[in-house]
Amino acid sequence: MTIGLADDTLLRQQCLIDGQWVGAAGDPVRNPADGSTVARVPRFNRTQAQDAIAAAQRAFETWSQALATERASLLRRWADLITANVKDLARIMTAEQGKPLAEAQGEILAAAGYIQFYAEEARRIGGEMRAAHRSDSRIMVSYQPTGVVGAITPWNFPAGMVARKVGPALAAGCTVVLKPAPETPLTALALAYLGQCAGLPAGVLNVVTGDAASIGEALFASPLVRFIGFTGSTATGKQLMRQAAEGVKRLGLELGGHAAFIVLPDADLEAAVEGALAAKFRNMGQTCVAANRLWIHAQVHDRFVTAFAEKVRSLKVGPGTQDGVQQGPLINERALDKVDRHVRDACAKGATRVTGGERHPLGGTYYQPTVLTRVSDDMEIAQEETFGPVAGISQFERVEEVIERVNASRYGLAAYVWGRDIGQVLRVAERLQCGMVGINSVALGTELAPIGGVKESGFGREGSHHGILEYCDMKYTLIGGLPAH
Ligand code: ADP
Repeated sequence: MTIGLADDTLLRQQCLIDGQWVGAAGDPVRNPADGSTVARVPRFNRTQAQDAIAAAQRAFETWSQALATERASLLRRWADLITANVKDLARIMTAEQGKPLAEAQGEILAAAGYIQFYAEEARRIGGEMRAAHRSDSRIMVSYQPTGVVGAITPWNFPAGMVARKVGPALAAGCTVVLKPAPETPLTALALAYLGQCAGLPAGVLNVVTGDAASIGEALFASPLVRFIGFTGSTATGKQLMRQAAEGVKRLGLELGGHAAFIVLPDADLEAAVEGALAAKFRNMGQTCVAANRLWIHAQVHDRFVTAFAEKVRSLKVGPGTQDGVQQGPLINERALDKVDRHVRDACAKGATRVTGGERHPLGGTYYQPTVLTRVSDDMEIAQEETFGPVAGISQFERVEEVIERVNASRYGLAAYVWGRDIGQVLRVAERLQCGMVGINSVALGTELAPIGGVKESGFGREGSHHGILEYCDMKYTLIGGLPAH
């Protein structure tokens, strides 16, 4: 079944609270490709967030008690509907986010994959029986749904970041109040609409758009909300941690990254160049696992730069809806300013511009795919994530030194290591302080693996069987009074 989402949900100007679509005066959602208004969404605040929390709590009473098989079959139906509507959902996403349609479609299918996976995991939440400290007793360890969950998502993966949180939460038996990013609420609303079509009961999934701070305050102030899953900037993550302290609320935080991309002298250079292209330029560099700094061994540096720059020069830039486009616009002016600032700062401090380095002639928020060499530690690009299509390259001679300099970062999300000597590569990977490492591969994102960081990149994991336990409380039950043998 397909539902004609692009014609319908986009124009609703409504949020989903307690199974009802509720409208209000709205904020515009802009198309980054041309600045036009795609649609408006309600400017809700604390009041509607509280309504959503109350609805989620009512729904929790029954949803948490439902058989895992019932939750699983609803989630599976939801995943099927998302897959069936992939084209419409991708159009919605590209309209509000800017990424090429092919990437948007890939993300929608990946989002369906997360929900499908957690439909399966719903039936696999186990527990343990342990030997006890008394002969008439047993120790039982079980996992129970945590309760109402708040999910706060960013604009770079408008479907993926929702599915990674809502999928495991609902599978575990939690109910959700979702606050999507103001830049990309339409994909989230469309997903929720399909969830409703799939039969999710009222209140199980609520979506509230509007004033981030006041919706956030309502989520953190409510004792009913037991867990908040957040993906976004480290600055906002820190603020949310402070807010969580008051109610001792559990958090899952996936924050900023600063991924190193290390190429050892024996690496398959052609594969490494392709990998760098994907790790840097997917989603116009607006991913938290984007290769922010490329460390290339001196023996292969020049060859790598030549081959890489040639590929970067040929990337096709334009609106995400245009055939063959690989690089869309950046999300907004703020993002463009940051990219511009990083490039100017690097060039002023001695970086060499190999290609790009300017706003794109297309205007708006388009930026030229850029390669810089001679990047040094004192440059902003070497310290903070650029979140844009700029590859900063540094040469190295000693692996030890690279490991030390990479680990000096306060971030620790992802890293990539390329080389043929597997022992050497693995040794490097083990020593890097980060939550995820790609060895001769950049395809880290999958529902089958635990995604997350260390240090100021956050904590908690999304994906795999670990992801569902984030939404469960571990309970220890002592069973006494067993008869003696
Ligand atoms: P960015 O700067 O890229 O938008 P943020 O970390 O600020 O990254 O945003 C990620 C998500 O967090 C968005 O949904 C945003 O609306 C939300 N957000 C930002 N500030 C707050 C806040 N004080 N309370 C709750 N949510 C917030």
